[in-house]
Amino acid sequence: MEESPATAEPLIQCKMFFIAVVTIGQYQEQESKSIYNFMDITQVQSGNDLIEAAKQNKMPILNASVDTIPNIYDIEDADKRTVLHYLALNSNTFIYNRLLIKFQPQAQVWLKKEDKYNLQAIHYFVYSGKIEMLDEIQRYYQPKNLLGMASYKNDVLAMIQIREKLKDEKVCCKYKDSVTPLHLACFTKSDYAAIVLMRWKHPLNIQDANGNTPLHIAAQNNNYKLIRKLIQRGGSVKLKNNNNQLPIELTTDPQTLDALKSFRFSWKSLLLQLNLKPRKRSAMQALVFLLFFSITNFGTIFLVQNAKSKDQSNGSFILFIIIVTLFSICFFLVSYSNPGYAKTNNEQNLKEILQKLEPYEICYDCFIQTPISSKHCEFCKRCVLRYDHHCPWINNCVGNDNQSLFWLFLLFLFLDFLLLIILGILQLAQNNATLSSNSFTILIILTIIECLFMIPLLNLILTQIRNYYSGLTTYERLILGKPSNKKRESIIQKMSFVQQG
Ligand SMILES: [Zn+2]
Ligand SMILES: [Zn+2]
Repeated sequence: MEESPATAEPLIQCKMFFIAVVTIGQYQEQESKSIYNFMDITQVQSGNDLIEAAKQNKMPILNASVDTIPNIYDIEDADKRTVLHYLALNSNTFIYNRLLIKFQPQAQVWLKKEDKYNLQAIHYFVYSGKIEMLDEIQRYYQPKNLLGMASYKNDVLAMIQIREKLKDEKVCCKYKDSVTPLHLACFTKSDYAAIVLMRWKHPLNIQDANGNTPLHIAAQNNNYKLIRKLIQRGGSVKLKNNNNQLPIELTTDPQTLDALKSFRFSWKSLLLQLNLKPRKRSAMQALVFLLFFSITNFGTIFLVQNAKSKDQSNGSFILFIIIVTLFSICFFLVSYSNPGYAKTNNEQNLKEILQKLEPYEICYDCFIQTPISSKHCEFCKRCVLRYDHHCPWINNCVGNDNQSLFWLFLLFLFLDFLLLIILGILQLAQNNATLSSNSFTILIILTIIECLFMIPLLNLILTQIRNYYSGLTTYERLILGKPSNKKRESIIQKMSFVQQG
């Protein structure tokens, strides 16, 4: 059957609209990303042979030109880049040194020349990994704003060296279009550099010329690990960019989006939503838990004791007092115990270990080699030895040094609730009219709540029993259990090495 033009027309309009939307979407994406493409080399011919030779690093032409062409320092291309910029980009220190010796009087002005991104030759040396050139250039002038170039390349070693050599270097130096080092690290997925910048207190909610925060850039890159870190440290999920978009709206990968949504509804993010940053080890969770514990315990015992006649034995009450006392002691001890924190270290240590370890063997927060079976806890801000998990009930980590205390805590908690449930059910079953109808209803509600509470509690106890028999921590068994995990592989390797040795 032939389609009438009347029905075909809306279809065409619909298609055109769709194409228009897609094109605008792509355009916006390109535009917002373009301010980060500092290192783009224009392929357009500059019209100058020397610039072209430097761009393509053609040694014979460069060698010949040094002695024959006068005023090399005046030459620049459409991007305002000089020969020095391109030599730096290509790590060509040989020609660079020859030029500087020959044009010594002009060197300072020449080196300070900025291209269209406001970058000098030294920025390109840092970018190409030639950090040692900083010493050379410091003979002529004091450069600044180099940290971003090292962050761009995830070069943590260079970042430390820059801070050592340039005392005035700001962590949050600004480039063209208000781009900062953290923006750049997020743009190039330089996770290690980003973590170090955060440790150095780089502001998290700083916006570039397009209104994007580092979180926007990480979201655009679907970099879940970095998104998590940024949010946990106080990166705002509510700031909008100039296109009125939230960071989460820029995520295009469904898996990252799912992970982000589940993160948004976890207890951690719930606290973030309430603006109670868990990084400060808020006592909120522990208080809620204590409140819940007191209401169920004292409610049940009060009702049960009230219903008793005077001559009934008080054995169960004494048992209850003993269990509650033991539980309270364990709760207090486990909450304030040191779970086995690894000692944090300084930049000097990080510099040393960076030169001999694999990147994933290092904690870029604590500046130490991650000890076997340890993990960095975002809430405690430290690496925890034999990390099990960060328990919201006790608001503390469970690790090497407080694992047995935690087991005792769980045991007494379990016995306490078991006793409450038994007492409650016995009292309800008797129902010898010693309870008023109101008290009867309250006791039913309390007993149901206590039974419901047993579900997560038993789950936790079961997890700990399984851990015990598998010889692994919760973190190793449930999180590192994924076979693709690099860190796990390295841990297993080291463990087998230790066992052999
Ligand atoms: Zn750590
Ligand atoms: Zn912790």
